[in-house]
Amino acid sequence: MTFMLMMSKNDNKASMNWQESLIKWFAGNHRELPWRWTGDPYDVLVSEFMLQQTQVATVIPYFHRWKHVFPDIDSLARADQSEVLKLWEGLGYYSRARRLHECAKSVVASGGKLPGDYESLLKLPGIGSYTAAAIASLGFGQRVAVVDGNVLRVRARMLADSSDITKSEVKKRYFKELNELIRDVSDVSSFNQGMMELGALICRPREAICVECPVRQWCLGHSTGTALEYPRKPAKASRPCYDVSVGLIFHDGKYLILRRSPEQMLGGLWEFPGGKVEPGESHEECVVREVLEETGLDVEIVRKVGAVKHAYSHFGIEMHAYICALRGSSEVVCERPWAWVESNEFGKYAFPKANHKVFELLKQQGVI
Ligand code: SF4
Repeated sequence: MTFMLMMSKNDNKASMNWQESLIKWFAGNHRELPWRWTGDPYDVLVSEFMLQQTQVATVIPYFHRWKHVFPDIDSLARADQSEVLKLWEGLGYYSRARRLHECAKSVVASGGKLPGDYESLLKLPGIGSYTAAAIASLGFGQRVAVVDGNVLRVRARMLADSSDITKSEVKKRYFKELNELIRDVSDVSSFNQGMMELGALICRPREAICVECPVRQWCLGHSTGTALEYPRKPAKASRPCYDVSVGLIFHDGKYLILRRSPEQMLGGLWEFPGGKVEPGESHEECVVREVLEETGLDVEIVRKVGAVKHAYSHFGIEMHAYICALRGSSEVVCERPWAWVESNEFGKYAFPKANHKVFELLKQQGVI
């Protein structure tokens, strides 16, 4: 009897493939996250939008606030865009907030229920293959592989594959291969989450804790001692940095702010008038020119507030901020929405991060 039991236990171990080993590991080692296991596809939708290019720890408080204000897809669809952007403020990559809002409106316009299959989800505005796969598998249990940066890294190491995982044909190949591999898994949601969790906790970008890894016996990177050589990094293009000047035009106790056009980067957010410094132009000359071009106002520099730096994904800026005064009329001529606001009203508007750094300078100087 004892012998039979031992046989069957060993047989199970020998027959377990890496997918099931991963699922088992995930069951006992996953982090508790507020969007995990709620069974609500809307939670998956919101968290996946927020998690794009953003750390889990940063997303958690935003997710809680979001769910408090927009508990379901209906409330999000009914919201004003400025309310959506204000709640997203500080999370960065604001196009995600606008796309999420558009997606909610589209779902509500066509009945109010998120579709449960990958192909239908892909047709929604703002939803790409990664998000569609995440919602379909985590929210509805559909058998489709989720492939994000963590998954690509884990798989490249397991296969000791030198391919450039930033290339779309390589991503497609991994997606296809993983879809084959999940055909028979016992729990597709746990498999997908397990792959992402393994990449986040164990098989990390600069460290692979192979000794704790549930798939190490199937990993070529581990067995050949080359894990950290994968994925191969393509040569990085240097990131340009732009010199920008902005004017804080102070008139009758208020500052002029403009709203960025929806099609621009950071579209829908508010900012001070200004722009890129032209070759041969001083920062001060740039402010005067940009303010005139953007608002029709003739201004002079009162004093410099300071300069702040901010890095976006593909470029950086050094923003020089100046307090300005009107030299002539206060009549604003601008195609974009604009407003004169008191400094204690800045908090009502969503501003990009670089502007918040300017606010910090103003606070240090006792201006606001
Ligand atoms: S064994 Fe090591 S390299 Fe391979 S997947 Fe696990 S952590 Fe990554």
